Amino acid sequence: MNIPMLDLKAEYALLRDEIEPAVCDALAACQYIGGPNVKAFEAEAAAYAGVKHAIACASGTDALLIALRAIGLGPGDEVITTPFTFVATASTVVMCGAKPVFVDIDPRSFNLDLDQVEAAITPATRAIVPVHLFGQPVHLAPLKALCEKHGLKLIEDAAQSFGADYAGRKSGAYGDIGCTSFYPSKNLSAFGDGGLMITDNDQLAAELRVLASHGSRVRYHHHVLGYNSRLDEIQAVILRVKLRHLDNFNNRRRAIADSYGKQLAGLVETPFADGNGRHVYHQYTILSDRRDLIQKVLTESGIACAVYYPVPLHKQEMFAPTHGSASLPVTERIAQRCLSLPISPMLKDDQIKRITGAIRQALT
Ligand SMILES: *Cc1c(COP(=O)(O)O)cnc(C)c1O
Repeated sequence: MNIPMLDLKAEYALLRDEIEPAVCDALAACQYIGGPNVKAFEAEAAAYAGVKHAIACASGTDALLIALRAIGLGPGDEVITTPFTFVATASTVVMCGAKPVFVDIDPRSFNLDLDQVEAAITPATRAIVPVHLFGQPVHLAPLKALCEKHGLKLIEDAAQSFGADYAGRKSGAYGDIGCTSFYPSKNLSAFGDGGLMITDNDQLAAELRVLASHGSRVRYHHHVLGYNSRLDEIQAVILRVKLRHLDNFNNRRRAIADSYGKQLAGLVETPFADGNGRHVYHQYTILSDRRDLIQKVLTESGIACAVYYPVPLHKQEMFAPTHGSASLPVTERIAQRCLSLPISPMLKDDQIKRITGAIRQALT
């Protein structure tokens, strides 16, 4: 039997009896946009995250774009972020007409190297966008201190870390705005696209709502350029069910990571949990000089694995004209040595053994 990266079929089998009747009710209620489940999900997500406001939107990418627009980002502005992330973290900065400034990463946590951030701040810097990569919370206190010192906004990209904790707060709740994604592979996932913005700031919350709704405060009156970015009712129904399982699922991911760590010790470099918060293992990512060999052997054994991310953002064709000459050696080296193994709350202990056994075989 093949082992997938993420076993959505097993998850569906587990949740089917909760999800299907709820979806059928919503189908029959015919309030497909702006219905009661979207409002209820926003309230439940805000309560879960411990924030005053949660605003649903169409994707994690939209959440980032709308958050950046809400803080007034525009041409001539700069945003400091990581080059080791999914493209949307930085493409949304460009969509606002602003420029991403990439700072190298810490070789163990894979998150922004906090010692290099301040040197990247210029008079044009408006915000810092840390990514809690693979579910590991960034140490935000020093970033917040920098933001306060230099008058910047802190926008968390929590697309991979919903449910993680940092300093007694849920991931995304510590900065000015937290953005997350419900893409089907994320820790809290819909059966399609979806996203969420969370904040404690009343004024920013109002701005986020206006921008997500065609720049309109009063229907058919548009004072600012906005977007059509909505979570639909059916996805909200599914997310309400799955939110109730999120902590259990994240706990299982942590237990799987623990088993992997024990079984892979001494074979490869296992993920470093820096202890700054509660890691929720969106990915379980190992490092090895023999990465390509491991990948080949796993693939031949019917075990999925993936390189997140093979090309750092400053080397992507879309950013190369402006950033191609940048040297971010830690990121470039990690991109050559990283490999993410299957992880899903549904992964079984015997599957973990099979995966680590195949890696042991590849390396010995
Ligand atoms: C998935 C992801 C996004 C984008 O979310 P979508 O819902 O796919 O638009 C942004 N940032 C990071 C770090 C992601 O992993």
